[in-house]
Amino acid sequence: MSQRGAPKPARFPLALNRLHVDAPSSAARQPLRPQRLLREAAQDAARHVPPTGIGLDSAPVRMSMVARLRAEGLGGEAVLAAMAQVHRHAFVDTALAPQAYEDTSLPIGHGQTISKPSVVARMLGLLFEGETARASGQLGRVLEIGTGCGYQAALLAALAHEVVSIERLTALHERARLALAHWPRSRLRLVHGDGMLGHAARAPYQSIIAAAGGESLPTAWLDQLLPGGRLVAPMWQGSASRQVLMVVDKAADGTVRQRAHDGVLFVPLKSGTV
Ligand code: SAH
Repeated sequence: MSQRGAPKPARFPLALNRLHVDAPSSAARQPLRPQRLLREAAQDAARHVPPTGIGLDSAPVRMSMVARLRAEGLGGEAVLAAMAQVHRHAFVDTALAPQAYEDTSLPIGHGQTISKPSVVARMLGLLFEGETARASGQLGRVLEIGTGCGYQAALLAALAHEVVSIERLTALHERARLALAHWPRSRLRLVHGDGMLGHAARAPYQSIIAAAGGESLPTAWLDQLLPGGRLVAPMWQGSASRQVLMVVDKAADGTVRQRAHDGVLFVPLKSGTV
């Protein structure tokens, strides 16, 4: 038996007037503008503040290097204060900056290396133990042989009133000149020359420090050392199988006393300039 009355509306297909379509949202009504996304990304980037204190080239990492050197009894407080102040990472290639505060030597190009912090602290500490330096608390006028990247020269400039630093390689001399441009020339003179000849123009020096090692100590260094002054340099010893830190003290009467300290390994001291 069929039911009578109003015919039941068909459920499918739906009549268009029964279709419920949401009104487009305001965002969807906006025309597509890819530039907007780029602009917002730029705004986000501008708001982003890099975190401080966790980078491997940051002040806390430098301070922990200084704390390690202090715990090892290296340097003395004046040297450690300078090492806390001078940014070692600024003197090495950007790619090596994360390693700048590890106790390791690092390449600075042209086959040369920047000495490891413990050796730098040890050598500067030994200079401060020279007779005149101990009495005065000052390094006096300093001659450095082997400017390299300029890191140790910057430490010396923070510690002494006058530093003459010599480098034989033009490229490294120029690079150090840029890195150390903010130091007044009266305080830090960078010389391109053969450091085996010393630098007679500003001699005598109370302190002489070399960052390259030969088989003997050039006589010019001993001649240009002030009586009461001290020289610290790496030198091959005996059968040339062992390089040591040599400390030379010049007495008031001009006689010199030479003592070998720690075993080290420095780049070779070479004559002439390139
Ligand atoms: N103190 C430096 C270490 C540089 S390595 C630093 O902080 O980076 C030693 C440097 O000594 C090298 O750059 C090398 O070219 C230089 N050198 C070697 N023989 C030299 C000489 N006769 N005169 C001047 N520099 C010399």
